[in-house]
Amino acid sequence: MISLGAMLVFCLALEFVARLVLEIRERRLTQLHGGMFALLRLIPLVNDIVPLPENRREPLENEFVKLHEEGHASLRHGILRNLAKVALLLLAVWLLAFLFASRGLSLIEAILWLHLAAIPVRIVFHLYCWHQEYEADRYAFDKLGKKKAKAAMRDLAECEIPYTKLFAVVYREHPTVVIRSLKILNKEIKPESN
Ligand SMILES: [Zn+2]
Repeated sequence: MISLGAMLVFCLALEFVARLVLEIRERRLTQLHGGMFALLRLIPLVNDIVPLPENRREPLENEFVKLHEEGHASLRHGILRNLAKVALLLLAVWLLAFLFASRGLSLIEAILWLHLAAIPVRIVFHLYCWHQEYEADRYAFDKLGKKKAKAAMRDLAECEIPYTKLFAVVYREHPTVVIRSLKILNKEIKPESN
């Protein structure tokens, strides 16, 4: 029988390797340096709080962006997103209490298990957020039409750091412009400079 402690070490090692592979794949496919954050993302627990820069510069306020935000508001996305967060937080507290009390784990072991369990949960949460972004895009698209949506996506693409889909689903609450433009325009919009 493998002990829980040994299994924890194994899972953390597996996480480290998986993130390393993801990071190397990202560097190769985007040809962009990850900088200091790329190293910090490899370290369990630290990677839960490392920020992910999303833009090279702030996107311009335009009609599409305004209507996208209006779409979020009218579909009550903020409230739904917060409710999902609270539900997941409660689940986390319950899991922590369960591990801490009934399995006799130390606090640090319980926190590390929680960290591991949060990885797939976070991916599901990201997909839910992405779904909201598509809905808000669709709202703006229906009001403005294809031409303006396309121009807006081009603008956004110029401002955005172009992460791959796999990397984005692990780390981002926002889908990238490439993914969003595929959803609403059936066409990948990439920055001109690439
Ligand atoms: Zn949005």
